[in-house]
Amino acid sequence: AEEMLIRSEKMSIAGQLAAGIAHEIRNPLTSLKGFVQLLQGGITSKEEYYKIMIEEIDKINAITSELLFISKPMTDDKNNENVNELLHDVMTLLRTQANLYDIDLVLEAERDCLVLCDRSQIKQVFINLIKNAIEEMTDGGMIHVLVELREKECMIAIKDQGPGIPKHLIHKLKEPFFTTKKNGTGLGLMISNQIIDNHHGRLEIESEKGHGSTFKIFLPTDEK
Ligand code: ADP
Ligand code: MG
Repeated sequence: AEEMLIRSEKMSIAGQLAAGIAHEIRNPLTSLKGFVQLLQGGITSKEEYYKIMIEEIDKINAITSELLFISKPMTDDKNNENVNELLHDVMTLLRTQANLYDIDLVLEAERDCLVLCDRSQIKQVFINLIKNAIEEMTDGGMIHVLVELREKECMIAIKDQGPGIPKHLIHKLKEPFFTTKKNGTGLGLMISNQIIDNHHGRLEIESEKGHGSTFKIFLPTDEK
């Protein structure tokens, strides 16, 4: 995997994905085959094997669902949308999950921000980033979402109080399949970055280990 990451800068996104998928799906498949062979041999502690097999199948399933999302044709269905309204919808959706972990989701927006965008894609970006923040804040706390209307662009900052990201890892986050989670796919940030790119925006990541992280999305407001 390390070798793949080093080469990745020279490969196209499609090439990186193909290499990554082969790797990420072959591992659980190899493991599944091993367990099926053990079961075939007539083993006693079946329950434990079944549990691991289901986890491996879930992993393949998670990867393929995210890939299906990427492979959807980029419909050019852009409309002027109110960013605050999209954030409000997404945060309402995620609040139940956040509450379970004692996390407060707070939206702070001074003015309405209108952006020409594909509503469902931009919502997907907000979901991916806020979910990541929730997943890092195992001790609870506050996730602060700030919207600022700047000259010709709208900035959406998602600030968490999680463990932060060591400086040397920040540039790896947008690469496909980079994950530090047991059940992560490492595709969320890559997809988000690609969607933001398609909207002529940018995604900036600021973090220091131990000081939480801030993901800033910039989207142009003056597109025709
Ligand atoms: P996944 O969530 O499946 O791991 P992502 O592409 O969404 O994949 O994120 C990749 C990795 O980036 C995560 O595994 C985690 O290590 C890191 N990361 C993302 N968001 C945060 C955050 N808010 N704080 C700390 N680390 C983060
Ligand atoms: Mg994620």
